[in-house]
Amino acid sequence: MATFRYKTFGYAAQSVGARLTPFSFERRALRPNDVAMEILYCGVCHSDLHWARNDWGWSAYPVVPGHEIIGRVIEVGSEVTRFKADDHVAVGCMVDSCQHCDQCRKGEEQLCREGNTLTYGSPDRITQEMTQGGYSKHVVVRQEFVLRVPEGLDLARAAPLLCAGITTYSPLRTWGVGPGSRVGVIGLGGLGHMAVKLASGLGAHVTVMSRTPDKEADALALGADRLLVSTDPDAMAQAANSFDLIIDTVPTKHDINPYMPLLDVDGTLVIVGQLGNLSEPSTVPLMLGRRRVAGSPIGGIAQTQELLDFCARQNILPECETIRMDQINEAFERMERADVRYRFVIDMASLTA
Ligand SMILES: [Zn+2]
Ligand SMILES: [Zn+2]
Repeated sequence: MATFRYKTFGYAAQSVGARLTPFSFERRALRPNDVAMEILYCGVCHSDLHWARNDWGWSAYPVVPGHEIIGRVIEVGSEVTRFKADDHVAVGCMVDSCQHCDQCRKGEEQLCREGNTLTYGSPDRITQEMTQGGYSKHVVVRQEFVLRVPEGLDLARAAPLLCAGITTYSPLRTWGVGPGSRVGVIGLGGLGHMAVKLASGLGAHVTVMSRTPDKEADALALGADRLLVSTDPDAMAQAANSFDLIIDTVPTKHDINPYMPLLDVDGTLVIVGQLGNLSEPSTVPLMLGRRRVAGSPIGGIAQTQELLDFCARQNILPECETIRMDQINEAFERMERADVRYRFVIDMASLTA
């Protein structure tokens, strides 16, 4: 077993506002429960962009973003039992948690009472060294946070399941979506398109809500049953009380008031996109219809594995545009203009020292 640190390389933002540029760094030496992997593909998430630019105010530089990781095991620590060299594996948004609180014991590590360790931008629980993400050639992760890529899941397209996928799958499972459920999806980007595919895969009747009718063909192609134009007052009035769950994937400050009357009694609108303020929400539709607004962050490790297995079984895959590592800055700019259908995935074979 290697006791040396892994020399690796990737792309990092060195300061606020800087473009991502090539960066050499080291991964920790293998601990007994660690898995070292070569990264094959990494998805490009909106959080990567926010983190690289310090939009939330807590970034520490340099930042190597990336938390939708597909890889191949190259080496395992002496106590690793679940993985061996050459296995295809995946890592999502978390790489560690306390492992003993009530939430961790329930498999809800994303809700760890002591806070989970993010794949990038978190201090390591043992060394305090900042974690660095998947825009790189190698990563070392404890086996409890490594997922198995099931046979038959397309490696080149699976990466976005690790964040966009689990972020939308988890609320579908929390609120018991299945055949006959009436699900609405607001926003048709990286998260929204996965919400449509997964809700449809679970047997729900799926409606995409959009300000304009021009996304109808795309929505139907992704598996939605219909598109509801949210700026059409008649259509919105007709849709009143007709949803059990609405997944709101809008990533910016917005107004949820027009959507609340669409929920049936005890229906829930769950926010998965915007981290921050909303426009002033009215309590009228909440109280009169006993409706709820909720939030949901990613999902636990066991549920993420369940998602990968479900997608392999149902052949559900994100829609991806594959890019080279050196196209990442352009990809960030296009993401800001919502010019991507629906997720960029970096082919790490394009990253050479
Ligand atoms: Zn993400
Ligand atoms: Zn915990």
